Parts: sequence; structure tokens; C-alpha cells
Amino acid sequence: MHLYKNQHLKVYNSLTGTKEVFTPINEGHIGMYVCGPTVYSNVHLGNCRTFMSFDMIFRYLKHLDYKVRYVRNITDAGHLVDDADDGEDKIAKKARLEKIEPMEVVQRYTVDFHNILQKFNFLSPSIEPTATGHIIEQIEIIKDILDKGFAYEINGSVYFDVKKFNEQYEYGKLSGRKLEDMISNTRELTAQDEKRNPQDFALWKKAEPQHIMRWPSPWGDGFPGWHLECTAMSTKYLGETFDIHGGGMDLKFPHHECEIAQSEASYGHSPVNYWLHANMLTMNGKKMAKSTGNNILPNEIFSGENSILSKPYAPSVVRFFMMQAHYTSILDLSDDALLASEKGYHRLMDVFGLLDSLQTSKDSSIDITSWKQKCYDAMNDDFNTPILIANLFEAVKNINLIKEGKASISARDLTDLKETMNSFVFDVLGLERKSDGNMDSDKLSGVVSLLIRMREEARANKDFATSDNIRDQLAALGIQLKDGKEGTTFSVS
Ligand SMILES: [Zn+2]
Repeated sequence: MHLYKNQHLKVYNSLTGTKEVFTPINEGHIGMYVCGPTVYSNVHLGNCRTFMSFDMIFRYLKHLDYKVRYVRNITDAGHLVDDADDGEDKIAKKARLEKIEPMEVVQRYTVDFHNILQKFNFLSPSIEPTATGHIIEQIEIIKDILDKGFAYEINGSVYFDVKKFNEQYEYGKLSGRKLEDMISNTRELTAQDEKRNPQDFALWKKAEPQHIMRWPSPWGDGFPGWHLECTAMSTKYLGETFDIHGGGMDLKFPHHECEIAQSEASYGHSPVNYWLHANMLTMNGKKMAKSTGNNILPNEIFSGENSILSKPYAPSVVRFFMMQAHYTSILDLSDDALLASEKGYHRLMDVFGLLDSLQTSKDSSIDITSWKQKCYDAMNDDFNTPILIANLFEAVKNINLIKEGKASISARDLTDLKETMNSFVFDVLGLERKSDGNMDSDKLSGVVSLLIRMREEARANKDFATSDNIRDQLAALGIQLKDGKEGTTFSVS
């Protein structure tokens, strides 16, 4: 029996502004699309939080036995510097500044993105398509939107006609904006503007002679508008209507609004049933931004090389810190908050060392079944990880009571407790049990070598109690010493 049949998930749908019962289009199967990174610089921690929220959602849906096709794209063309239709392509600009090929920029930062996500223990999406790999699909959608009269061509560029679209559909429904208000709040178009209205957005832009990233099209050489790639790739892999579309809050407008408009104009119906938006990460109470210096890269947290930090933090600790907030809430990063999370993380991990040595009794004094359901209830309530974590700490408290003989558990309940703890901590939250991710192998071997020398000194002094003690204590930590002709070596299990 599939778990999802017993666990009734509700999600907060940004489109309707309500928590709704989640019902996939095809029973047992889920299509989920999440807007991926524009690969022109190192992925920043705020973006990691967004992707981590959807990694957790992906993990929980899989845990419920859904078959999930998770598509997360790589934007490697079309994203312009001002996030709208002006300025240089972000990747082409970086390539020009560094005097390298745009695809070298893409390669470098795609590799960086994957490395960081791997450190955070992300699952790979099912498909990770690129914008440049789907130019033909994008051109086909533009042709279709032109045919249906919701776009116009001018000087080799094609723009989406928002006013025309709004006569038949509703532009602004996701972000709660009204087209009339948008019109009255924007500047007049100047004579050089090609657009009929400032709200119109580019589906295809003519490439000026110096523009390197260009493709042939029915309208001449050019490149696709930023919003179009997500419509093309989500439709190609998930269908014209799919279950979940996710992304950062900041993408709601204009990016996601434009995706809806493109799909409705082309296919005549809404592309997505549930829109999920993850909230942002602030640092010391302020918005993170490169320009103000209030910014931190993931690697700076792992190495501790940033002036806001008192020490380095392991990726699992940072992950645990992020999971302690609900994905739709703003989360503030600070050294104090990370220190507190590190303590909590260790307290949680410590019980996994106890679980195997607990004594069982005939009966349980703790109700494991209802505790387990409380864990599910938290996650079924729009993936409420902070409530889930509170429940996991309830178990930590009980495990310690059982160890002290102040509570009892039956063998059957203990198996259930272990399985549930493992599922939620490792499979759903995606934490890893690493005692200290900050200690690199050089430091570890340095410390063990020091202990080996102290043990040799103890033996030379015939202090066998101390030498055995060092060996046994290391063995308890999973470090085995082996005495041989060449001296003592060690291995870590
Ligand atoms: Zn997108």
C-alpha cells in the first residue's frame, strides 16, 4: 500500500492564496518543475535555500511513494542583466569581462552549482535541461503565440502583447497585480521603444552584431526571452498542465506571471495546478546582496572564512539550520543562529548512537504510533519542517529517558521508532550523520598520529592501562589501530 493513500498532503498554493488538498493529475505520479540557476556566477546561499526547500519537498513526495518527475533547469542564455528586456545577457557579459567563451562561463558555474548542492546532500533532479538545448522548442511556441494573435514582430524581435492577452485572460493573477495599476504606475514609452506597451515582454530578441549567443529564427538571428525557456522545458517534459511549479518568491513577478501568460496564450489553459514559492534568506536582519557586502558564499560557511562567522560550519549543520524554518518564512542567518543549530544538530545525531543499545521491555510507556503520526501531520501540513523537528526532539527526549530507565519501549515500538527517525532525519530532511564536517582528513590524521605517539610513550613506560585506554577509546570512535613491524597504523570505519 502506498504511503500517500494514508497521508493527506496539503500545500499552500500561491495562485489561490490558500492551503489546498494536494491531488495529482495522475494518481501516484507527480510532475514538478523548479526554476534553476542562471549560471554566470557562484551560486549564493539564498539560492541554495530555495533549491533546498524543493529538495526537501521532492524527498518527502518520494517518501510518500509518489513517482516524481522533477525537472530543474539550467539557464544558460536569455537572462538579461536587468531581469527584463534590456541590457546585456548575464552570461555573455561575464564571458566578455573574463575574455572566455560564454559556454566556458556556463560550464564553470554549472560545475560549481553541482558541487555545492552535492555538499548539501541534494538529490539530483530527474531531468536538468538547459535553455540553449531547447531553442527549437522555444521558437515553436513563439510561432504558436504569434498565430494566436498574442504577440507581434518588430525589427526582428517578437514581443508578447500583454494588453491583448488581458482582454481574454487575466494577467497578474499569480502576483495579485492588476494590469490597469501596472499601466498607471509605469513611465511612457519613448520613441525608440519597440514595445506597444511597457508591460509587454520579449519572446525573441534580435541579436545585435556584437551579441555572441545567437541562433537563426524565422525573424532573423537572435535569442529567446528569459521567461520562454521555462514554458518550453516544463511543457516538453511534464505536459501542458502539470502538478507543481516552484521557485523563489522573487520569481513570482514577472517571471512566473509571464510563464502563465505564455502557456495560456499558446495552449488555452493554465500550465500549473499548484504554485509553490520559497522565501528568502537574510543575513543579520538585512537583505543579502553582493553590492552591499551583506553576502556569503556556501564555501565561506564551510571554511569559516567570512568576518560574520566565529568558526566554520559543516554543510549538514547549515542544512539543519535551514530546515528549522518553514520554507515560506523569511529565515535570518547569523553566527548565533548557526551556533544554536550546530548544538541542536549534534543533540539529534547523538541519539542514533543510542538507538542500537536501548533495552526493550514488554510494554511501552511512550505512544510511538501517535508520535509517528504527528511527524507525518507536520509534513502533510505544507511541509512544516520546524514542527517535524520539534517532534523529532520529543523523540530525542524520550530516547534519553529510556536509556536512563525512566521510560520503557517494546521491541516492536523500538523498530518503528528507529525506522521513523531514520526516514525523517536522513531521507526527508536530507541530513547526514557526520560528526564534524569541518575536520579535514589532514587534521584527523595529525590528531591520531599524536595519540599513537602518546600510546607508544605510555607503553615504553610500561603504563599499559593508558596505552589500552587510548586504543579502546579510538576504537569506540570508529578508528582502529593496527600494530605492525613498521609501527602503528590506523584505519577509519
Ligand atoms: Zn523559470
